[in-house]
Amino acid sequence: MALRNITVKGDEILARKCKPVKEITPRIKEACADMVDTMKEADGVGIAAPQIGIMKRFFIAMPHVDAEDEETRDKIYYMINPEITYREGSQESSEGCLSVPGYMGLVDRPQKIRIKATDLDGEEHEYEFEGFEATVFCHEYDHLEGVLYSDIAKDMMTVEEYSERLEELKDLHSDDEPGDINEIWEARKNG
Ligand code: ZN
Repeated sequence: MALRNITVKGDEILARKCKPVKEITPRIKEACADMVDTMKEADGVGIAAPQIGIMKRFFIAMPHVDAEDEETRDKIYYMINPEITYREGSQESSEGCLSVPGYMGLVDRPQKIRIKATDLDGEEHEYEFEGFEATVFCHEYDHLEGVLYSDIAKDMMTVEEYSERLEELKDLHSDDEPGDINEIWEARKNG
């Protein structure tokens, strides 16, 4: 297990466009293994190569946080040279980023995407994701383009403020009808 340092906002590496992976070398595989450890240690759901200082087009994601079975929850996608091939609809998502510690933002994302990528064995796959999962892949993909969610967010707040408002939202709703998470941002606009 090896943890890598996570690059944070302000480092110009995060604002640069990454270069395609020409060959899946042992170094790339090792970086991916370290990214898994680093992501899990930081409680993230994804991490992109530039976040550990590598200017290449790959990221990993573990997006099925709400899945019933453990195997699906633990599934990690290795996305080398990813391309978003289709976008449909729109959603507002509340996002955080390991490279923007202490903040949350409200971002417009497509509701549904298709994304193709090569895995660590060099095989190409095309996946379809909706909702939260689609958001995760768009967020990580943006890192490869030099874009942070905070560059495109419509609104931002600190994690403390977000947590407080999440508690308030829970108080307003029952467990059966938890309410829409984006009410957090509405409450702020109204208040
Ligand atoms: Zn991020």
